[in-house]
Amino acid sequence: RSTPLLALNWKMNKTPSEARAWAADLASALVPGRAELAVLAPAIDLPALAEGLPAGVAYGGQDVSQHEAGAYTGEISTAMLRDLGATYVIVGHSERREYHSETDAVVAAKARQAQAGGLTPIVCVGERLDVRERGEHVNFTLDQLRASTDGVGENLIVAYEPVWAIGTGRTATADDAEEMAAAIRRALAGLYTADAAGFRILYGGSVKPDNIASICARPNVNGALVGGASLKVADVLGMNDAL
Ligand code: 13P
Repeated sequence: RSTPLLALNWKMNKTPSEARAWAADLASALVPGRAELAVLAPAIDLPALAEGLPAGVAYGGQDVSQHEAGAYTGEISTAMLRDLGATYVIVGHSERREYHSETDAVVAAKARQAQAGGLTPIVCVGERLDVRERGEHVNFTLDQLRASTDGVGENLIVAYEPVWAIGTGRTATADDAEEMAAAIRRALAGLYTADAAGFRILYGGSVKPDNIASICARPNVNGALVGGASLKVADVLGMNDAL
């Protein structure tokens, strides 16, 4: 079983000054636990994290361009993230899919570009509430996974984030998370290698210090992608302790 990953998605929160203070707070209090930590921050915060995070805490971006370089105003490239020491990047978060019209094809292109430049993409998938209510969540999410990993190599992390559980306080049950993580692992076995045990599959959606342990105790859930509870160092310490 791989080391659990506690991936912290700050979303559009924290200025560089706030990031610097947060990193200093974490550095003064973090007792390395069983988990690996990664902070997924606004790109402009990464220099502060590069300087201030304690050794062993990884960091990365929340999005990356599907293009290598060139006339793409406003975009951030893989090489730019790598130059700041980033090792991970989120691709295909449901907020990018919804508010920036990212298709599965775009998500796959971003993941390929990330890998080509030496980043590990955290590919996000997950169904909306209406899909779950129709009982089609597994098929929907696996279709999304296959399309979002088209041509993508095996150095990837998959995050299952049911849209109805993001920022709503409505957490999927550990059974829900395990059902989907197991299905995702079987799909990865078909896509990549029969022995899919080494893939990291994360759950995301209203994860907090008091529910992370039960969700991540399930055999196919290898960590969490955390939004709201990633912003306060105290919550991060609580989740790290619980893992
Ligand atoms: P919350 O933890 O705030 O529900 O956000 C989950 C998420 O979208 C992480 O990427």
